[in-house]
Amino acid sequence: MRRRLLLLAPIAVAAWLLPYGLGGYTMHVVDVAVIFAVLAIGLGLTMGVAGQINLAQVAFFGIGAYTVAILTSRTGLGFWPAAVLAILASIAAGLLVGIPALRMQSHYLGIVTLGLALGFINWVTNAGIAGRAEGISDIPVPPLFGIDLSSGYLYYYLELAVFALVLVFALFVTRSPLGRRLRAMRDDDLAAGALGAEIPLLRMTAFVLSGLYGGVAGVLYAGLIRFVAPETFNIGNMFLLLAMVIIGGRASIVGCVIGALGLAFVREALLDVSAFAQLGYGIVVVLVVVFFPKGLAGLPAQVFRRKTGERPRLSPFVPYDEVPPADARSVLEIDQVTKRFKGLVALQDVSLSVPARQIRGIVGPNGSGKTTLFNVISGFYTATAGRVRLDGASVGGLAPYRLSLKGVARTFQNLRLFEDLTVRDNILVALDRTRTSWIWRYLALPWAVSRYERSLRGRADEVLHRFGLTEFADAIPRSLPYGIQRRVEIARAMASLPSLLLLDEPAAGLNGDEVGRLAEIVRSIRDSGVTVVVIEHNMGLVMSLCDHVTVLSGGRVIADGPPDEVAVDPRVVEAYLGDSMAAPTEREAEHEHADR
Ligand code: ADP
Ligand code: MG
Repeated sequence: MRRRLLLLAPIAVAAWLLPYGLGGYTMHVVDVAVIFAVLAIGLGLTMGVAGQINLAQVAFFGIGAYTVAILTSRTGLGFWPAAVLAILASIAAGLLVGIPALRMQSHYLGIVTLGLALGFINWVTNAGIAGRAEGISDIPVPPLFGIDLSSGYLYYYLELAVFALVLVFALFVTRSPLGRRLRAMRDDDLAAGALGAEIPLLRMTAFVLSGLYGGVAGVLYAGLIRFVAPETFNIGNMFLLLAMVIIGGRASIVGCVIGALGLAFVREALLDVSAFAQLGYGIVVVLVVVFFPKGLAGLPAQVFRRKTGERPRLSPFVPYDEVPPADARSVLEIDQVTKRFKGLVALQDVSLSVPARQIRGIVGPNGSGKTTLFNVISGFYTATAGRVRLDGASVGGLAPYRLSLKGVARTFQNLRLFEDLTVRDNILVALDRTRTSWIWRYLALPWAVSRYERSLRGRADEVLHRFGLTEFADAIPRSLPYGIQRRVEIARAMASLPSLLLLDEPAAGLNGDEVGRLAEIVRSIRDSGVTVVVIEHNMGLVMSLCDHVTVLSGGRVIADGPPDEVAVDPRVVEAYLGDSMAAPTEREAEHEHADR
C-alpha cells in the first residue's frame, strides 16, 4: 500500500505540472485523452471485470453528451443541472441495455449492444431535436466559481479532479467484495450463483457502472468541445475504445487507462493516415488477443514470471471443533421429485430424507440421475414435480444464490473453480454472505465496505489454514495439481458456512492417500454439525465413510439403507451388472455431458 502511494505521488505531481510545458493544441489532445480514459475505465469494468460484452459504451457516452447539449441549448437549463440529468440518462440507458444481458451472453450480447449503439447514432442523425447530422453547437461554457473553463488548460484541472475520483471509485469497486463477485461471475456464473452471488443483479450493476462512466465522460466532452455531432459516437470510435481496453488489459483498470491515454495520442499522431491507422489498430488488437491476452497490464507478470524458491506444500487439515449431536431432525427432505428433460426422465418420484449430521451416500450407475438430483436441490433445476424441503421449509424454485444464503453449498463433478481468481479470492467469494442489494453502501458508506472486506480477509486466512492451503493462497487454480484443486473446491464450499454440503464425486481423480485425507475432512465436517450428501463411485470410500446410502438407477431410488446392507441388496447388484463398480472413475471422467 505504501509502495503504491510512493509510486502514485510523482504521477500525481507530473499530471499536475503537465499543462505548464504544453502548447494549446497538445493540451486539447490531452483533454480529449482523459475523457477517453474515463470511458475506458467504464468499459473495463463491464467487459474486463464483469465479463459482459458491451459495444454500447459509445452510446452511453453520446447520451451523456447529447443530453447536456439538448437540455442546455433547447430548454436553457444550466450546465450542471443538465450534467446531473445527463448522467442519470446514461445510467438509465445502462439499465436498459442490461436487460438483454439477463437472458443472453457472449456474442449474442455483443450483437444486441451493437444494435443499440447503431440505433442511437441513427436517432441522433435523424432527430431534429438532436440537430441531425450538423449536431448541436451552442453548449455554454460550464460555470465554476468564476474560473474560465473555456481555457483548455483550466478545463484540464476539472477533468483531472473528476478522473481521480472515478479512477479511485473503480479501483475501490474492483478490490471490494462486489468486484470479486463480478470477476467470479465472469469466470463461471453458475458457480458464482451457487456461492451466493445474485447473477441478474450483478449483470445490471455492470451495465449501470458502464452507463455511469459513459455519462460522466459525455458531460466532460460536452463541456470541453461545446459541440456534439453524430460522428463522435460512431462505431469507429467504439472500436477505438475497444482497442484501448484490449491493448491496455481489460481486467486491469490501470491497464485500461494506460491503453486509452496511449492510443489517444497514437490516433492523434496518425490523423493524416487515419484510414491505415484503423487497419493498424485492428492488427495490433489481434496480435494482443493472441499473444498477450492480458494486454499491457499483464506484461510485467508475463516477463518477470516469479521464480518460486520452494514448491508450496499442502499442510495437514485442521479438524473442526466437534459439536455434540442435537435432535435428529431432518435437514433435507426430498418428496416424490421428478425431473424431466423433454422426453427424458432423469428423476422419477425420488424421495429421501437426510437427518442432521449424517453423511449420506448417493450411488448409482452413470446417468442414473445423481447430479440431476444435486442440481434440483441446489436450485439449478426446478423439479418437474415433487417438493424439496430444507429444515422443514419448502425451497422448490428458489434461485441458487438464495439457497446458498440459506445454507446449501455444493461442489461440482467437473470442478468449477474461478480460473482467473487466486485460491484466496475463490474462498473470499464464498465468505461474502451479503445480498447484492447491499450495493448502495459502495456509494454511501465506502468505509463500511472496506471494514467488511478486511474482516473477510481475516476469515479467508483461517479457512486457508484449516484446509492446509496457506501456501497456495496466491496461486491460480489451474496451475495446481488436480488433488489440490479438489480440496480448494471443498474449502470454498465450506467457507460459505453451510448447513448442508453436497459433494459431487469428490474423490474422482484422487490418489489413494488423497482419498484417505478426503474421508478425514468429510468426517470432521459432519462432526462440526454439517449434513453431508456425497455422490461417490469409489465403493471403498462409500462403505467406510457414509452413514447411510441411497442407490439410484434409471432415475429411481432402488435401495436405501446402511452401506453394508445396500451393498448386498440383489436389486443393487443387478443394477450394477454390466456397469462394473471396479473402475468407474475413468469412465466418468470421459462422461462429458454438462454437470450443472
Ligand atoms: P449421473 O450424475 O448419475 O451420472 P446425471 O444426473 O448427470 O447422471 O444425468 C441423468 C440423465 O439426465 C442422463 O441421461 C443425462 O443425459 C440427462 N441430463 C442431465 N442433465 C441434462 C440436461 N440439462 N438436459 C438434458 N438431459 C440431461
Ligand atoms: Mg454425475
